[in-house]
Amino acid sequence: MAYVGRFAPSPTGPLHFGSLITAVASYCDAHAHQGKWLVRIEDTDIPRIYPGSEDHILRCIDAFQFEADDAIIFQKDRLDLYDAVIDQLHKNHLVYACQCTRKMLGSNHIYAGTCRDLNLPFEHHAIRVKVSDREICFNDRLQGTHCSNLQQDLGDFVLKRRDGIINYQLAVVVDDYLQGMTHVVRGADLLDNTERQIWLGSILGYPKLEYMHLPLAMNDQGQKLSKQNMAQALDLNRAPELLQQAIRALHQPEVDLDTPAHMLRQAIAQWDIQHIPHTKELEGSYL
Ligand code: GLU
Repeated sequence: MAYVGRFAPSPTGPLHFGSLITAVASYCDAHAHQGKWLVRIEDTDIPRIYPGSEDHILRCIDAFQFEADDAIIFQKDRLDLYDAVIDQLHKNHLVYACQCTRKMLGSNHIYAGTCRDLNLPFEHHAIRVKVSDREICFNDRLQGTHCSNLQQDLGDFVLKRRDGIINYQLAVVVDDYLQGMTHVVRGADLLDNTERQIWLGSILGYPKLEYMHLPLAMNDQGQKLSKQNMAQALDLNRAPELLQQAIRALHQPEVDLDTPAHMLRQAIAQWDIQHIPHTKELEGSYL
């Protein structure tokens, strides 16, 4: 079976233990399927980039001895590609400019399509994609069937912000397609984004992907490990121990403490997703 997978961190903070779990799972799953594993830095949201975190991501990939099967790509170098896709959607009348500010929308989380027929110019406005009133479902390899009716749950959503920043949903879908991705392995915090990405892929005529959303590592306050919750940066001097803990967190058979490359090879040989908890959160707490 053809398999191309990826690890796609955003440099909004240093990598933490939760990121390591995603990296290990995507790497082992790709290699257990004789597939390719690519790395993509998702740095379109420039105001949220945390200084030094891009460098920390690259140093982690080295220290943990993950080997990418192609050159690492950076989304900030690819803005023209995303704009070209917006143009394509525009030609097909699938996107429109929106002048609603966050203040105008207030606490209403479902966008009512206010600007759909106003024909506003694209410059200096946000760009939204039209969604339709039908259920989109997918079968996640761990989480089972997941569905959303985007019109009822969300409304037309933003692909490009008024300040020109390309939204994550668009960049991820375009790059997964252009890089030939077949499988997405990532944290369960992104489960609810998937129907938006499936919708975009379908109106662009891209092939469908397989999804696996991993249970999240939580801290002792019951919050997911994240940059916002001050999760500890991965310590590059402790790569073997941290790798062993990440493999344990995924409920895989034990691997011996060794060089990271050797440990990863052992984890790939023993990889079985049936052992991973089919839940949204891991039990226990992590730092
Ligand atoms: N860049 C996203 C993040 O760091 C992950 C995107 C994805 O895997 O689809 O949370």
